[in-house]
Amino acid sequence: MRAKFNYFCGMILTDTHTHIYSESFDEDQDQMMQRAIEIGVTRFFVPSIDSTYTNAMYNIESKYPENVFLMMGLHPTHVKENYKDELKHVGDELEKRLNGDLSKTFYAVGEIGIDLYWDKTFLLEQKEAFRYQIQLAKKYKLPIVIHCRESFEEVFEVLESEKGEDLFGIFHCFTGTIEDAHRAIGYNMKLGIGGVVTFKNGKIDRFLDQISLHHIVLETDAPYLAPTPYRGKRNESSYLMNILEKLSEVYQKPIEEIAAITTQNSKDVFGV
Ligand SMILES: [Zn+2]
Repeated sequence: MRAKFNYFCGMILTDTHTHIYSESFDEDQDQMMQRAIEIGVTRFFVPSIDSTYTNAMYNIESKYPENVFLMMGLHPTHVKENYKDELKHVGDELEKRLNGDLSKTFYAVGEIGIDLYWDKTFLLEQKEAFRYQIQLAKKYKLPIVIHCRESFEEVFEVLESEKGEDLFGIFHCFTGTIEDAHRAIGYNMKLGIGGVVTFKNGKIDRFLDQISLHHIVLETDAPYLAPTPYRGKRNESSYLMNILEKLSEVYQKPIEEIAAITTQNSKDVFGV
């Protein structure tokens, strides 16, 4: 155990996408955080889903002020009849923290995008919400964190019309082809690589070595999408190590080097 601890010593790992406020962690949130921090996962970037989670996000931020970096946004699967009220909430919270006198801030607008896997009913509203939130990100000079599921064409269509120096961020849980990867990078996006890279049928491990590590950030998307060997179970940020080890195989580079590059990339995106 001691040897293992020394091996990890000194690495700073960044989980760029983790829902640590999820009700899945109600029973053991502190232990879950400690398990991650002990192995070097000390930076947690936390995407929003909708207004019902905002207080839980603020609570964990105040418990771990050094480690937790919050985003604000409306998740595409939560774009429903009340989406205008939800978007107002996003706008209000951003305004309070970025232009108000609170000492706290947000580090991205996310997670936002389009999801056609679960439900296509609100496609038009999803597109409108995505575009509106991109514009909020530009207004506050923040990166965006994109959720894209069975919707590459629709997401790229919006990015194409919003592209520019002021549009940048992360394509979270990237699962596309190498062509999609190059396209996303062309819009100033880093690729968020998570548990899918460890799956037997995940496919992205086959071409990832052709994408420079400078475009890659690490993420778990906890509590979802646990990497092998935990696939199908609850995911948590300490499992970032399994993703790191897989990337070390794919890129044929030591884990320390991948940790250093991907943490630097996260600093470049989030500005912290
Ligand atoms: Zn997520």
